[in-house]
Amino acid sequence: WRRKNCPADVESLGNATWTLLHTMAAYYPDRPAPSQMESMKTFISSFSEHYPCWYCKEDFKKAIEKEPVKVGSRKKLSEWLCRRHNEVNAKLGKEQFDCTKVLERWLNGPPDGRCD
Ligand code: FAD
Repeated sequence: WRRKNCPADVESLGNATWTLLHTMAAYYPDRPAPSQMESMKTFISSFSEHYPCWYCKEDFKKAIEKEPVKVGSRKKLSEWLCRRHNEVNAKLGKEQFDCTKVLERWLNGPPDGRCD
């Protein structure tokens, strides 16, 4: 991302990971089957065990203990993840993202069509 062909640092890993997580949530079903809800819970729990930044993962684990992952629909999962990302943004002094725009950002693109 910044330095080509170098091992990931916390920033480049974080940016790539949020892209994957938000995009996964954006393509999660509106009406998931029970097995899809179970596998998403398992994924988030395993992710929080294996994310390769120890202090990031410790805080993420605490956050999901406080508010367990919401797997009932695409919107619920996307907004849940948006809130988790905003907690990290707050910790790093970054701007809060408007979670009502999360599917515009990660699924549909802006109404002006500039991402089409
Ligand atoms: P990022 O924060 O990576 O965001 C990428 C894009 O996502 C933004 O450009 C924006 O368009 C969009 N976006 C921003 N906020 C939201 C939101 N709330 N919902 C949806 N979309 C949004 N770094 C640390 O230094 N300390 C930590 O403890 C830490 N914990 C992390 C925990 C996790 C689980 C992850 C995945 C990453 C963590 N990071 C941490 C990395 C950090 O969050 C950023 O990824 C990194 O600082 C690079 O920031 P960035 O400016 O590229 O934007």
